[in-house]
Amino acid sequence: GDALAVSARVAPLGSRLVLLLVEDLTEARRIEAVRRDFVANVSHELKTPVGALSLLSEAVMDASDDPEAVERFAGRMQIEATRLTSLVQELIDLSRVQNDDPLEDAEPVRVDELVAEAMDRCRQPAASKQITMAAGGTADLNVWGNRGQLAAALGNLVENAVNYSPARTRVGIAARRVTAPGGDLIELAVTDQGIGISDKDKERIFERFYRVDPARSRATGGTGLGLAIVKHVAASHGGEVTVWSSEGQGSTFTLRLPEAAATSPSSRKTTASG
Ligand code: ADP
Repeated sequence: GDALAVSARVAPLGSRLVLLLVEDLTEARRIEAVRRDFVANVSHELKTPVGALSLLSEAVMDASDDPEAVERFAGRMQIEATRLTSLVQELIDLSRVQNDDPLEDAEPVRVDELVAEAMDRCRQPAASKQITMAAGGTADLNVWGNRGQLAAALGNLVENAVNYSPARTRVGIAARRVTAPGGDLIELAVTDQGIGISDKDKERIFERFYRVDPARSRATGGTGLGLAIVKHVAASHGGEVTVWSSEGQGSTFTLRLPEAAATSPSSRKTTASG
């Protein structure tokens, strides 16, 4: 096809250049295919709740003389509207983390604050399933990055831990500093005792819209975008996210981020003067 035509045309320029051009073309094609898939996926994901809303509004009209039915349909409309709102919000979050350079307004961010914020976000769903959340090791640690993006990333991991766990289990968040050749890293590990993830699925869960069990993800209000956002935030901060899991036993998602010097005004002054 085109790739061959290009390689034939530039062949006299040397095999190295040919290889680069062919690779470029393949990469461009791959990116274009990913973009097309993404648009198709977004359309599909939007169609589902919009279609349901349209059917439900018809049902409400038909049931106008049955107040109980109207209430039931209206309740389901509310669920679909909430789903639509969270999908749009996650799409905005994803596009933001993909387009904004997080390091433009990077600052030292306190790990205890990040963890508290992530836990607060899940307080209600955790309580309703009697899931206990506990954090450890967060004192005196700071990560370097964009506060909003880091909060979104950790929040998504804790939210998943709660969503994919049965009632009366524990979710733990453990923080620690690890020494690495390029500078110290902060490791944030979110551990649950939930349903776990098979080895086959582990490779794909960070893809946009990939879900192991779409019905379960939808039931918990999931969009399939959370881990894609986490992965992007980790990478753009020079960190990474990894997963360990055992099916039926639970999972641990580990976020590794660059460490920052202390954030408190007094320690900053010390650093500046000495
Ligand atoms: P979702 O909105 O569906 O939760 P995510 O991108 O956050 O989307 O996660 C993708 C999929 O990975 C989920 O649908 C679920 O199947 C799986 N997953 C994520 N976190 C966990 C977890 N802690 N335990 C088990 N499965 C998980």
